[in-house]
Amino acid sequence: MPELPEVEVVRAGLAPAVAGARVVAVSVVDARSLKRHVPEGADPGTGGHGVTLSPEAGAVRSADFERRLTGALLGAPARRGKFLWIPITGADGAAPRESLLAHLGMSGQLLLRAHEASDDRFVRIRLWIEHPEHGELRLDFADQRRFGSLALDALQLDGESPVPSQAAHIARDPLDPAFDDRGFVTALRSRRTAVKRALLDQTLISGVGNIYADEALWRARLHPETPGERIGPGRARDLLAALRAVFAQALAEGGTSFDEQYVNVNGQAGYFAHSLNAYGRGGEPCPRCGAPTRRIVLGGRSSHFCPRCQRRRKFSR
Ligand SMILES: [Zn+2]
Repeated sequence: MPELPEVEVVRAGLAPAVAGARVVAVSVVDARSLKRHVPEGADPGTGGHGVTLSPEAGAVRSADFERRLTGALLGAPARRGKFLWIPITGADGAAPRESLLAHLGMSGQLLLRAHEASDDRFVRIRLWIEHPEHGELRLDFADQRRFGSLALDALQLDGESPVPSQAAHIARDPLDPAFDDRGFVTALRSRRTAVKRALLDQTLISGVGNIYADEALWRARLHPETPGERIGPGRARDLLAALRAVFAQALAEGGTSFDEQYVNVNGQAGYFAHSLNAYGRGGEPCPRCGAPTRRIVLGGRSSHFCPRCQRRRKFSR
């Protein structure tokens, strides 16, 4: 599942091609990939995850999405946590009030292709765009498993940052210059819940999923089941630094790709999977001390850690 580094690689890849481009045409191949799109005038309650679309409702949603996006002028792509969006610039040059919001889910891909390029697999939505410098391109949303989606969503202000309404409930991510380090340390240390679970809570800190949580805990030498309230302020700051370091390395290596489900905008896989020290290494030796890496199930998800480097402690600094 794409986490912050993977979504950031996609954002950075899109930026030069979409900022300043105009949407010439839109084609929705599969309305199920609009599960988070709420048609104009519709009750917002008709959007959302688990909704099964009737063919009629799907047609309404597709038509609304195509009509409102066609002709739109696209701004510079932005991201918070795993949410990625492209602001839609007003015709009058006014500040954007709306955005094209993408959530990649498990296997979503945003692919930039030449007009005449052959089709990728599982393309659900296609945009034809025209950029003043780069000319005509296709922006294809492909998604094998259909947990991802595109949507048009209103932008609202969080302080001075515009953010889509659907992403407004999540915390800033640790690469955001406005991330509140002190607030995070205090909030983490007030929790009784396991630190691994706290890291996956997008209202505490966004963008962290199973892979990078395990990697940061390994770097900070914290057992995944350590309750937040047992972590000292120094260790909590170490954990935040470890998250940033692992994100930075993953970004430099193009993200983590398993099963070819995550790729950049050119369809290429990242190679950070080779640099993992804990995640997915159950039974293999810890790269730091050689003890066999252990796998446990925590909150229904696998956690990998080194039982020697990441001991359970009553309290850590
Ligand atoms: Zn170890």
